Amino acid sequence: MNSSKSSEYPQYYAKEIETMGRESLETLQLDRLKWQVKRCYEFSEFYRERFDRIGLKPGDINSLNDVLKIPFVTKQELRDEQIAHPPFGRYIVAPPKDWRELHPSTGTTGVPVNTIWSERDVENITQWTCRTMWSFGTRPGDIVQNGFSYGLWVAGMSCHYAAKAIGCFVLPIGASMAERQVDYLVNPGATVLLSTPSFALYIAERMKQRGIDPSDIPLRIGCFGGEAGAEVPSTRRNIETRLGIDAYDYFGLAEIGPTCASECEEKAGIHWAEDHLLVEIIDPDTNQSCRPGEVGVVVLTHLTKEATPMLRYWTNDFARLTMEICACGRTHARSEGGILGRADDMIIYKGANFYPAQIEKVIRSFEELGDEFRIRLATDERTGIDVITVVAEYTTKEIDNEEFRSKVTHAFRDEMEVTPELELVEFGILERTMFKAKRVVDERARCA
Ligand SMILES: [Zn+2]
Repeated sequence: MNSSKSSEYPQYYAKEIETMGRESLETLQLDRLKWQVKRCYEFSEFYRERFDRIGLKPGDINSLNDVLKIPFVTKQELRDEQIAHPPFGRYIVAPPKDWRELHPSTGTTGVPVNTIWSERDVENITQWTCRTMWSFGTRPGDIVQNGFSYGLWVAGMSCHYAAKAIGCFVLPIGASMAERQVDYLVNPGATVLLSTPSFALYIAERMKQRGIDPSDIPLRIGCFGGEAGAEVPSTRRNIETRLGIDAYDYFGLAEIGPTCASECEEKAGIHWAEDHLLVEIIDPDTNQSCRPGEVGVVVLTHLTKEATPMLRYWTNDFARLTMEICACGRTHARSEGGILGRADDMIIYKGANFYPAQIEKVIRSFEELGDEFRIRLATDERTGIDVITVVAEYTTKEIDNEEFRSKVTHAFRDEMEVTPELELVEFGILERTMFKAKRVVDERARCA
């Protein structure tokens, strides 16, 4: 790994808020929660109707625990609201004169949901992104190669604003031009890379093909988000080795905001920006809070968002939460292991549930296999039984034998308790991706 340049600068971007004691942090959260609930009730018919339906008044929220009284908001409800009240729905709380940027969700799971940033929202998002970037080691003078997609998708803009605010030199290349990405890593020599994990691995592959060794470039750190990956140990190790960097995990989502949680240099889970977000982990069977360490659905409430605040947004992402102070000294809660899975991505096969990330973990733990893979779900026409096939690339033809296949299928069984079929293809055949990878191909009969 390249040496850190952290020592010349303070350890924290915003020490007071990042190391605030739990009690003070919760006092701040409650003040902000009350403010948010009151304005949502006053200025948004969407929220007022939901409160009135169950007889809840803003004055009923007197402790952080009282948040449990507020109904969840789901992505589908936001979509329905937009259709009923086009174009933006009635969950906008700020007046149009305060709107600055429109950021719809990517629409990978249906009609995009629109969110709006006010001037103050832009400032807050920039501030929390500065904190995250600083926490994984970005410092003034760094050359930041921003390989997150610009435009409507949110992470490109937030990292651009934050890198400038920290005092970095930004290369706003976006999620495109793999060859140019490699060029810029060489000259001017980016020191920080931001992209999806898939794209990072693709850049590494192109670098290798061009005979560029990680030690030839000054790249020091990378933070990767937009899809699962950086928190998967085998993927992280591959990115770190092939690019010669420390790799960190980034999380954000359009409805809440980009880059709102990231790992610090301790790699001890993603830290949430708790002064801006109230983070709950909810048991999806009981809708009650999980205990610290228990896995449940992440539910987020905006404490400072002005334009399109979410009260108890049901993310469909699974994680656990710990309030224990991190070795880095930051007090804000962490989700160890990052996002553990998305309910939307869960695959049910032969009575077992598993996530694509588990297949990824296995594939990338074998040096003999390429990073790229596909998960093909199909129905056997004769028997009507569902069949899962994992398509992976071999790096050398010699390993395409029974002994190696059985090693991989055993690893699948250990990880997921089911054994998919394995199909090995030549290296480079599967399409590489620059944005969010679509690795699950569902051809099952009921989906036709
Ligand atoms: Zn930390």
